[in-house]
Amino acid sequence: MFLKKIRTLNRSLVFQLTTVFALTFALIAAAGFTVIYYQLHTMAMADLDDEFFDEVEIFKTYATEKGLDAFLAEFSREIDSEDPEEEFYRILEKDGGTFISTDMSAWKTDELGEAIRLLRESGRDYILQTIDLPDQDYSARVMTTFLGEGRILQFGETLEEVADHLEAFLNLFVLLIIVLTVVTAFFGWWLSKWSLADMAAVTGTAEKIASGDYEHRVTVKGSVSEIELLADSFNTMLDRILGLMASMRDINDSIAHDLRSPLARIRGVAEMALIDDKPLADFKEMAANTIEECDELISLINTMLDITETEAGVAHIKSERFDVIKVVKEACELFRPLADEKEITLVSTMPASQHINGDRKRMQRVITNLLENAIKYTNKGGTVSVSAVPQGEGIDITFEDSGIGISEKDLPHIYDRFFRGDRSRPRGGFGLGLSLAKAYTESMNGSIGVSSSLNKGSIFKLSFK
Ligand code: ADP
Repeated sequence: MFLKKIRTLNRSLVFQLTTVFALTFALIAAAGFTVIYYQLHTMAMADLDDEFFDEVEIFKTYATEKGLDAFLAEFSREIDSEDPEEEFYRILEKDGGTFISTDMSAWKTDELGEAIRLLRESGRDYILQTIDLPDQDYSARVMTTFLGEGRILQFGETLEEVADHLEAFLNLFVLLIIVLTVVTAFFGWWLSKWSLADMAAVTGTAEKIASGDYEHRVTVKGSVSEIELLADSFNTMLDRILGLMASMRDINDSIAHDLRSPLARIRGVAEMALIDDKPLADFKEMAANTIEECDELISLINTMLDITETEAGVAHIKSERFDVIKVVKEACELFRPLADEKEITLVSTMPASQHINGDRKRMQRVITNLLENAIKYTNKGGTVSVSAVPQGEGIDITFEDSGIGISEKDLPHIYDRFFRGDRSRPRGGFGLGLSLAKAYTESMNGSIGVSSSLNKGSIFKLSFK
């Protein structure tokens, strides 16, 4: 239970942002404080060295200007006030013997003798060094220099005071880093919470939708632009999903409706066959009717599957070179008897040939669908014109009729599956012809367009590049 809580917390964005925020700050602050710490250390050591040089200067002045007695008086006064564990002073004779010295019991190290030897041999004026003392917790700074007449002055001081000061600073820095990291973590937490508060609105809406409240929308107007963009995209996506759901509902209704009538008719025929004793010829007619109804149903189902596969991009689309003019001419010949029957003048204008790449069978289907519609929705005595105009490697094919036209209200829906304009219902059809034409055309990288005015006629235009 506890582990689960920790795991959930670990995955929370607020927690992650807060942690990153606090850790980044702590690292930067630690790096900054480290630099300051070393700077302070360098400055403290430089101050100490300055003090050493000042002291050497005073001792030398006394020794040379005021004589040995005055010097010894000053030296004794100076060294008496010091703690021999923390500081030492000594003067060595030219032959190495001790002229005067403080208690050296805490300063047992070969490095002091080594410094004296080095000073004599190197010819330098002084040697200033930091040494480690075996019996002490702190290192020490030691000055070794000539005092005059071959004497050597050596004095040193443990770095306890410097270390104490630096430790005080260090403690302050650590405390500051801890306090500031906690404050930063809190600030980071508050900032992440604040900036993700609107995300909670998106999540809340998603939860409401998941529980069935599809009309709910995210409202985060006036918040940061990224979240507003997310909310807008989220709302647009919801609108689109609702639209798709509505159209799927419509499609379901249409399928149910379109299947019900032929199935009812088939059932009626079967019932009649059971009830009456009929001559064989009647049975044959009933069977023929049933086959016709079944064919229509199969064709409806096949067309739907065809549209779905084509739109999903899984249909096999051939790419062959063929004469599209031949296809248009064949379609005109096919529908001429129907046009004649309705006393419609069918005019066609096209060049001798134009070869394009595409799927010939699909092109045939698109052209016959559009021509069939043009004749179907044109009243007796009207005109249907088919024209094909080559466009470079491609072609534009136009179907213009003087028929019933399409209302502005219907125009945006004519490519929807199962859409049938109210006035066109009596003329039959499942409302799949244009959906199929559009899916096929687009699958061959073509486009389909329409312009229409009610009671004047319509123009459908296919363009293939
Ligand atoms: P169907 O013709 O089977 O109803 P379509 O998908 O071919 O289905 O057409 C959809 C709708 O578009 C038709 O019901 C009709 O309202 C409208 N339509 C299509 N072509 C024309 C046209 N040439 N003139 C007028 N209306 C048309």
